[in-house]
Amino acid sequence: MSSENVVFISGATGFIAQHIVKLLLEAGYKTIGSVRSEEKGENLKSLLKSAGLKSDLFSYVIVKDIGAKGAFDEALKAHPEVTVFLHTASPFTFEVHDAERDLLKPAIEGTTNALNAIKEYGKNVQRVVVTSSYAAVAGFADLVTPGKEVNESSWNPITYDQSKANPFVGYIGSKKHAEKTVWKFAEENKPKWEITVVNPVYVLGPQAFEVKDKSKLNTSNEIINSILTAGKKKEEPQQYVGYFIDVRDVAKAHIVAFEKKEAIGQRLLLADAPFNSGEIYDIIAEDFPKLKPELPELDKSKGPKFEDSESIINNEKTRKILGFKFIDLRKSVDDTIAQLQ
Ligand code: NAP
Repeated sequence: MSSENVVFISGATGFIAQHIVKLLLEAGYKTIGSVRSEEKGENLKSLLKSAGLKSDLFSYVIVKDIGAKGAFDEALKAHPEVTVFLHTASPFTFEVHDAERDLLKPAIEGTTNALNAIKEYGKNVQRVVVTSSYAAVAGFADLVTPGKEVNESSWNPITYDQSKANPFVGYIGSKKHAEKTVWKFAEENKPKWEITVVNPVYVLGPQAFEVKDKSKLNTSNEIINSILTAGKKKEEPQQYVGYFIDVRDVAKAHIVAFEKKEAIGQRLLLADAPFNSGEIYDIIAEDFPKLKPELPELDKSKGPKFEDSESIINNEKTRKILGFKFIDLRKSVDDTIAQLQ
């Protein structure tokens, strides 16, 4: 694909999306991002400019709520030149009251709205990339079979009703059922454009641009940040276990997803390696000795065990399609902490 292409990216202000926008502008793609407000759009524009990126290639449209009927219609009517549509926007927070209203519905309806708008008004669209999640691939908590191998064709068994129980399963279910919507739409509508889905595990790594408010980061990076903030509050941090991938690799994968023909019709399962909070803690202590006195107590024996709670990922197929080596945990943590200093 050449830089003649015009790329639309929903949720352009997001943690992952900002890295994608950065790569798109570096590659010379004209980029249109959807944001929730003019203030957020202007802020992103000024971040792009301060970073020395070709900010004149970037413009934004306002889509306040992806879940509102016809959410993307006006945006695509105004931009018939769009050839690539990247749908990254989806609620990613556990701080909600009603999992169905605040997570499942906006994720699923937001995806349906994007696909319907492309069908109706995206007359030049050739490629569509949807950001799904590992949550759509493997079961978690009660639905996990620890040690079971999962790959690009695996599905989390979670049902819509099970997903309504609480914010954690609500987010997991929102990703699974939003992705199901994508493949169902493709099967029923046989669109002329090609679809690729990206399924990342926990995404860690630095923010694309300078961080003003360091007290709270995006949901997945709180795994790292909470170790520092717990130290300040003299609390023990919550411990995590799972697989990780660096955000810069997730952004690169979104570009490959629409540039390479081998990615057409595929799910790209993005995972580098397993991690746990104890390893992140050790990396911080070793590589940032100045922070050592501020680190909280961490009883590693209390953390969840990989073998009790995780499936085993085989993503050979994805690695082959992408053709680049993933960033490792140490670099991801080091770059994240360095930015927070
Ligand atoms: P993020 O920083 O929270 O970004 C989410 C973006 O979606 C934000 O721009 C947000 O806008 C927008 N958004 C959410 N709900 C919306 C709504 N109802 N209407 C309009 N815009 C809405 O999260 P992220 O980590 O970058 O996640 C991006 C995508 O990757 C999501 O689809 C997420 O599920 C997926 N993913 C993330 C991870 C991870 O570990 N980070 C792993 C797997 C998959 P505001 O900020 O203005 O609310």
